[in-house]
Amino acid sequence: METKAALPHIVIVGAGFGGLRAARALANAPVRVTLIDRNNYHLFQPLLYQVATAGISPDEIAHPVRGILRSQKNLEFILSDVRKVDLPGKKLMTDAGEIAFDALILAVGGVTQFFGMESLERNAFGLKNIADATGIRNHLLTMFELANQEADETVRQAMLTFVVVGGGPTGVETAGAISELTRLVLAKDYPNLNTQNVKVILLEAFDRLLPAFPPDLSANTVEVLKRKHVEVRFNAAVAGFNGKSVSFKNGEELPAHTVIWAAGVKAAPLMATLGVEPGSLGRVPVAPTLQLADFPYAFVIGDAALLMDADSKPLPMVAPVAMQQAEVAAKNVVAVLIDGSLSEFHYKDPGSLATIGRRQAVARLGKFKFRGGFAWLVWLFVHLMQLVGFRNRLLVLINWAWDYLFYDRAVRIIGPCS
Ligand SMILES: Cc1cc2nc3c(=O)[nH]c(=O)nc-3n(C[C@H](O)[C@H](O)[C@H](O)COP(=O)(O)OP(=O)(O)OC[C@H]3O[C@@H](n4cnc5c(N)ncnc54)[C@H](O)[C@@H]3O)c2cc1C
Repeated sequence: METKAALPHIVIVGAGFGGLRAARALANAPVRVTLIDRNNYHLFQPLLYQVATAGISPDEIAHPVRGILRSQKNLEFILSDVRKVDLPGKKLMTDAGEIAFDALILAVGGVTQFFGMESLERNAFGLKNIADATGIRNHLLTMFELANQEADETVRQAMLTFVVVGGGPTGVETAGAISELTRLVLAKDYPNLNTQNVKVILLEAFDRLLPAFPPDLSANTVEVLKRKHVEVRFNAAVAGFNGKSVSFKNGEELPAHTVIWAAGVKAAPLMATLGVEPGSLGRVPVAPTLQLADFPYAFVIGDAALLMDADSKPLPMVAPVAMQQAEVAAKNVVAVLIDGSLSEFHYKDPGSLATIGRRQAVARLGKFKFRGGFAWLVWLFVHLMQLVGFRNRLLVLINWAWDYLFYDRAVRIIGPCS
């Protein structure tokens, strides 16, 4: 009988959507799997904006990796930051030392992309991880506390102006949720503040929100946001933010103490250590088999990988791409190490969903498109079912029901964690 150490060793970096799915897909393969992540949890990023807007707490969308994979006998989890990949040497440099592999699956995702605008990187909030989301929540709530004490009307108005940059799903969802938090919840907490003066402004550099949706759903989203008192500005190219005022490329200034940057993501920095020429947004080009050129034992999947769709456009940085690629990479890695033929990846687009707030969402599912209450119910159901763990589903459902029935937000806490 083969000992465990004699089995081919596959290392997966990243326990996000792609890495976790790849690890599970290898559960019955005659291989030894090591899964490495700098966090000990899998994060459900699509609901980060609800942590940022005080609706749910971080642990409801983060599930411990060891808990998820505890029954997988051929897998070991290592909590570590991977610093560098040595592809020819088949090893990783990590803060837990060197880790050798026979084959590698990189599923390291992305980070916020500020397009070189340093003042934004310094002063604006990204929304990519738990620290970002709790940072936004603390800041939003602090702005209300400070505004409540502020005598100068101009300063108070800037404290109560919340700017969200980026008209994709994250920007739309965040802007809608801040507006509802303000008008439905905080208005009751701050009777001395005129919350009618609160401004939520969504900035988009181009002329349309939600470009992945049909044009009529994009137009509907603008209407719904307006009804929710969100001001949408198109062709608004941001140039900087000093913490007190947003500057635009046309020279305009907008006094505001809060900017949430939902306008860009690029591949995780680890991809720059591969010695492979990156493509757009730092994503590394892969073959249709998801292998790196010259390194058939190395695979890249998800946000970090650059692969074109049938129309020669880069596949989107979304969870279904990462999860579907994980299945193909897992099959191909076994084919390379043991036996079998390689498969090519073909994306099956399950559609897109975005919520704009209470009873409002847009959905594109195959040939069908919906908006309003039905789309919202679909959004609720899909997101709830995708959360890992029954406890998390139950807690999120309770929080959603509570918010919906009582116009409340459960986590209105200014604090380092929770
Ligand atoms: C706010 C927000 C909302 C989103 N909403 C949606 C949505 O509604 N629908 C949708 O389909 N997609 C959505 N996405 C995109 C989706 O989350 C990503 O496309 C998906 O997570 C990509 O999966 P991945 O496996 O490539 O990377 P990730 O899921 O990001 O996982 C990467 C993992 O790698 C780890 N890692 C990175 N670098 C290192 C390192 N050097 N060492 C160790 N570990 C490392 C990270 O800790 C992380 O756990 C959203 C993203 C954000 C930020």
